[in-house]
Amino acid sequence: MRCRVLPSVQATCREDAAMTSDVESGQAPLILIIEDEKPIRNFLRASLTTQGYKTIEAPTAREGLALAASHIPDLIVLDLGLPDDDGVNVLRKLRTWSTAPVVILSARGRERDKVEALDAGGDDYLTKPFGVGELLARVRVALRHASIAADAGSDSETISIGDLHIDLLRRVVSLANSEVHLTPIEYRLLACLARNAGKVLTHNFLLGQVWGPGSVSRSEYLRVFMGSLRRKIEPDPADPKYIITEIGIGYRLKGAPSDLSA
Ligand code: CA
Repeated sequence: MRCRVLPSVQATCREDAAMTSDVESGQAPLILIIEDEKPIRNFLRASLTTQGYKTIEAPTAREGLALAASHIPDLIVLDLGLPDDDGVNVLRKLRTWSTAPVVILSARGRERDKVEALDAGGDDYLTKPFGVGELLARVRVALRHASIAADAGSDSETISIGDLHIDLLRRVVSLANSEVHLTPIEYRLLACLARNAGKVLTHNFLLGQVWGPGSVSRSEYLRVFMGSLRRKIEPDPADPKYIITEIGIGYRLKGAPSDLSA
């Protein structure tokens, strides 16, 4: 059988972390796969179980919601195009009772769907076709975020990505050991990205977090301040290495909070 999931070369969606054992000591996380296409389900199951994750599967929205309720998975991989319901509806229903991280699967060119799903409570997305490396990176980041959220107290953290250090407690940002002077808005923008490092944040989410819920339509704010922030922290703002643009969707601070230190 030919699998339609091909390795992707989408460099911006790759995480640098090694693809070694994803499962930390202790119980293997349980991942629910909600996807109607059998070859993709098989690919997901094979990729995830090789890394030690346990999986359960559902080909429809109805069965997916039932399994989510009966098995309480640690993470859900959710296809947006399901035969019996829209994936975004599934997500909205899930979010009324579940905080399990959800990684969305969607076809290329459906950016609006992805944005809608991320705003409805999705944690991250994968564009079909995707490779095993991307899949495992997204799953790893989403699981890590969930465990950090469970620990809470994230404002007492320092986040380090390469030469960039963000001290969320003291509100100090430094680049290669010299302090970077940010305006309050630039700082809020960077801090929001840093608290969600590795995760894609939609334009609306960032606008709401930084400027308040009344500003979600003012995407020009984001463009302007993202430009000035990049000029301060990026060695080459035209080829950013810290803040990655997710075209049509939002931004992602590279790296993952594995670098968190107290
Ligand atoms: Ca589908």
